[in-house]
Amino acid sequence: MTEVTELGYITVGVSDLAAWDEFAAQILGLEVVQGDDANVRYLRMDYWHHRIKLVEDASDDLLAIGLRIAGTLEFRAMAKQLQDAGVEVRIGSRAEAEARQVLEVMFLKDPNHYPIELFHGPLVQYDLPFHPGRRMHGVFSTHAGGFGHMMLNRAAGLEEIHAFYTLLGLRGGVEYKIPMPHLPEPVELMFLHCNTRQHTLAFGTPGEKRINHVMLEVTKMQDVGLSYDLVRRAKIPVIIEPGSHANDQAYSFYLKNPSGSMIEIGWGGREPTGQSEYYHGDAFGHTPVMSNMKGFMVPA
Ligand code: FE
Repeated sequence: MTEVTELGYITVGVSDLAAWDEFAAQILGLEVVQGDDANVRYLRMDYWHHRIKLVEDASDDLLAIGLRIAGTLEFRAMAKQLQDAGVEVRIGSRAEAEARQVLEVMFLKDPNHYPIELFHGPLVQYDLPFHPGRRMHGVFSTHAGGFGHMMLNRAAGLEEIHAFYTLLGLRGGVEYKIPMPHLPEPVELMFLHCNTRQHTLAFGTPGEKRINHVMLEVTKMQDVGLSYDLVRRAKIPVIIEPGSHANDQAYSFYLKNPSGSMIEIGWGGREPTGQSEYYHGDAFGHTPVMSNMKGFMVPA
């Protein structure tokens, strides 16, 4: 069976590019590169051409999830694997691959109807080392674990989503059953991994937007603290105060981005344990800021 190897890139529609320019560089520390098109920005965090592509778009939401496949042979095997399972796949043209700075790309939709781009061969620019948008103690933790993780609100059932993503080679399942005083059933959150990162994609509850949060991991704990100070100073809403997750054991906090979804800045995540387990809550902290929580479910 052929497997996805990492969360390679995402494409996000944003209504206010100027706000994102400032936010990405000065708050998150990402490198902002102007696209050929004035309506496009590339956000870099390592040697890759980009990890996040921003496109001026009123949706303020996810436009594509770029999942990496190892190489040419795996790319062909994955297309066959999906077609044999009855999943509709379209192989992208050379121009479509070049527009994404990859060697080959194929397009499909997940059960939530979110666009997936399976690709191999990203453009890696060793002649263009990452240049952070502001001071950093360390760097972003990427390479073998992909660029981070993403929690998505869901439009389909957890079983259906699990069946689809396991066909792509991701593994995992429900890891949180969070009791809610006002609900008859606990909220269930599902986490899927494909490499050394404890989870790459996670699915929460249904929501207005596709994105619940995008998590970026830093190599130094001090960069979580520095980001937190910068967020407070800029009066950007903190949605969840610093704390430590039970599943990936990362120390992190959540802030609101200019498109209204969340960014999680984390440090110290562990690798998948290889066996399933579940939790009622986190290790410590992660207190939701109730006045800023409107529109968000309970993230993990
Ligand atoms: Fe997270």
